[in-house]
Amino acid sequence: METVAITLDGVPVSGRQGITILELAGEVGIYIPTLCHDPSLKPSGACRICVVEDETSHRLVASCVTPIASGMRIQTRSPMVLEARKVILKLMLANHPESCLVCDKGNRCRLRQLASDFGIGLVDYDRMNSLVGIQEANPFIQRDLSKCILCGKCIRADQELVVVGALDYLHRGFNTRPATLMELPLERSECTFCGTCVAICPTGALTERGRPHLGTVGIRTATTCSYCGSGCSLWAYVVEDRLVQVEPKAQGSANKGALCVRGHYGSDYLHHPERLLHPQLRKDGKLVEVSWQQALDEVASRLMEISSRYGPHSVGFFGSTLCTNEENYLFQKLARVGIGTPNVDNGARLHCAGSLLGMQESLGTSGATHPLEELERADVILALGAQPLESHPVAGYAIKRAVRQRGALLIYASPLRDSLSRMARLWLCPWPGSEDRLVLWLLARVMRAKGRALPQWMEAMGPDSLLDGTMVKVEDMEQATEILCSTSRVGIVFGRGLSGLPGGKQAVRALVQLALELGCLGISGGGIYPLDRGCNTLGACDMGTLPEFLPGWRKASDPKARAELGELWGQDPPQGRGLTLPQMLEAALRGDLKALYVMGENPLELLPALAGEAMSSLEFLVVQDIFPTRTAQMAHALLPAAGFLEKEGTYTSLERRIQRLRVCSSPPGGARPDCWILTQLLARMSLNPQHESAVEIMKEISEVVPQMRGVRYSLLETEPVFWPCTEAGATGERILFRGGVPSSHAILEESWTPSMENPDPDFPFLAVEGECLFRAGGASRTSRSARLRAFKARGEVWMNPADMASLGLEQAQEVRLVSRQGNLLATAHPREELHPGLLWVVPGAGGPAMAALAPWSLDPSSGSIPTFRAWVRVEGVP
Ligand code: SF4
Repeated sequence: METVAITLDGVPVSGRQGITILELAGEVGIYIPTLCHDPSLKPSGACRICVVEDETSHRLVASCVTPIASGMRIQTRSPMVLEARKVILKLMLANHPESCLVCDKGNRCRLRQLASDFGIGLVDYDRMNSLVGIQEANPFIQRDLSKCILCGKCIRADQELVVVGALDYLHRGFNTRPATLMELPLERSECTFCGTCVAICPTGALTERGRPHLGTVGIRTATTCSYCGSGCSLWAYVVEDRLVQVEPKAQGSANKGALCVRGHYGSDYLHHPERLLHPQLRKDGKLVEVSWQQALDEVASRLMEISSRYGPHSVGFFGSTLCTNEENYLFQKLARVGIGTPNVDNGARLHCAGSLLGMQESLGTSGATHPLEELERADVILALGAQPLESHPVAGYAIKRAVRQRGALLIYASPLRDSLSRMARLWLCPWPGSEDRLVLWLLARVMRAKGRALPQWMEAMGPDSLLDGTMVKVEDMEQATEILCSTSRVGIVFGRGLSGLPGGKQAVRALVQLALELGCLGISGGGIYPLDRGCNTLGACDMGTLPEFLPGWRKASDPKARAELGELWGQDPPQGRGLTLPQMLEAALRGDLKALYVMGENPLELLPALAGEAMSSLEFLVVQDIFPTRTAQMAHALLPAAGFLEKEGTYTSLERRIQRLRVCSSPPGGARPDCWILTQLLARMSLNPQHESAVEIMKEISEVVPQMRGVRYSLLETEPVFWPCTEAGATGERILFRGGVPSSHAILEESWTPSMENPDPDFPFLAVEGECLFRAGGASRTSRSARLRAFKARGEVWMNPADMASLGLEQAQEVRLVSRQGNLLATAHPREELHPGLLWVVPGAGGPAMAALAPWSLDPSSGSIPTFRAWVRVEGVP
């Protein structure tokens, strides 16, 4: 790249062509103050505090928007520059309330810091206070526009980073201010309360509502959000073991300086009074507090005793997509080596087994093939069966940026009209559950368009008839085919609406085949992006908490893999595949499974139709969690664990990015990190784990998991690392299949009949649980987050207005959804775009989940149970 030579403060320096004076100054260590500048945003030159002097013309230029030019001679601290900056600051302060002592921003206010740097005390200019009331009633953000300096950062963050468009400038001249449309309060605007504007605001104009600590917090710790697989990096500010503030961490992160409302404001659950503080054992039917020694001795001895009495297969282990890699690794080791049972599964089974196994069988890998930054480079994005803005908001921001800033064409298949459907080139509004048929139809059309012969079973199926009942027009699908075939740079995003269907695994395989036909793997701007639930879904599976796979996705039946592990562990893992969680519960009902160890999951919430009865048949139930969930309340032994800010470890994001969790505070009471608990149990089973820390455990993981052979904590300190990372010091492969997809993979050979629905006349509505921004999983955390709950606690059901009218329902009326399995209460709201006969259930931060209504029906291909759909009737509650 061409370099440009200039003189900065009399010193010759050079930089890449196109960079600004401010950027070059930063690179060579010269400080220039800024207010409106942020590296995540396009420069705007609004505040002018970064002015520098061009020595040739003796003019002042804003360094943040002025590119370097050959021969430039720039002074950053000349008398003219310093005087100009002082005047600018004084003008700002003249228009700023003198309320620093009571301002929530306190010493963190950039304006106040600069005033101090420039020695500006009282301002001798006429004051022009603009008094604007604080109007917000939401629990997250407070605006005091009298403190606004019109830097425009909030507007640019809103429009450029999260692409919501809730804010823009209103009025002109002295009356200018950032505002929502019609100056509505934030809670009545498009705002999603991601808090990016608050984090970026340099003054006290935008502040966090209800901060538990108003002073300046000097120490912050970098860690990773624990809510979804986007894997956002954040700064946690802690005072006296209490989380008081969260900010996005921009550098080296997937989230580029943005978070969502869960990540920004939803971690207060860590201080909820219901945190489990002491180990408990059930005595005479009641859980009573005991010492750790007693609890661990009891758990180890009872598990070993049951294993020796009934055989190791009588014990099951259920790991967690919310626990770290290290924890899941030790957990499966405890199962396979400590007890010798192959029955180990994790929460992914219940919500995304179709995605993980479908990708694994097609490509030999699970997780996204590309990082999210590549999604932003796509020419075309196909998103189906997913609500990225609700489930994985940061992935949603990437899609929006691709469309808005790079002109990508979005094909969006969703039954709901939302901000993605509004920016889509093509919005397909399918009947939920027919997404698999859309995929197969597209696959057949694309294959024909590319001159490929269809497999016989596909021809026999009559692909043209697949659209029957999907509610999608042939013309729209033909247009979708045309758009998809126009480029190889296609990013394919899918979620539970596809992979969670019965037969979802085959649907995912067909989608992979579609990607291969389009040629979008292995190239920049392409890729497949599964939006699976859980913050560490991929990591938990990488670690082998699956009955069919050992650590590193090696088949449990593979003798070579078993022998290698046996050598390292001093004992071979048990032969053959074990039981999935639903199979374990069925075995418990039959009396074949006697003990179950549940770490960080709540099967009773997710599978109420089966789990309650099955778990009450167990002789011994161990639950390790942070809250007394419904499952925990059934435990014979309850082990209090540490939350995500209270422990070390790593998560692997949906993009295969391995990231650190760091200790920011201590666990409350006697709660302990899961690794400590598991290490203690391994030691009691004479396994001599020799794991002193998460670092040590990762060392062992890197020996066991081939994809992570090169991963070291020391590297994770400084660089984003993606698996596969097979050499120490390397940062891994960001884009998979650069050299092509091995021909042994990705051949969709099997015959497959897409799912069809059989409505029951007594239950005429299909209820589908949508994703909810204010909720995660079974809601054990979001329901205990005061702010998430305060904003959206209750569940809602959205339905076609004609259906509401025919049932005589009013807007916001309470209704009961009744299925053959159960019922749930929600308030009904009309949504024009929903097909008649369809109910869209939005569970809220703490409302009941659809699992209460879902039938017990095992999808044999993935061993999962689709719990987010049920046929119901609707009853108005008077
Ligand atoms: Fe956390 Fe996901 Fe939100 Fe990022 S997008 S802040 S990882 S919940």
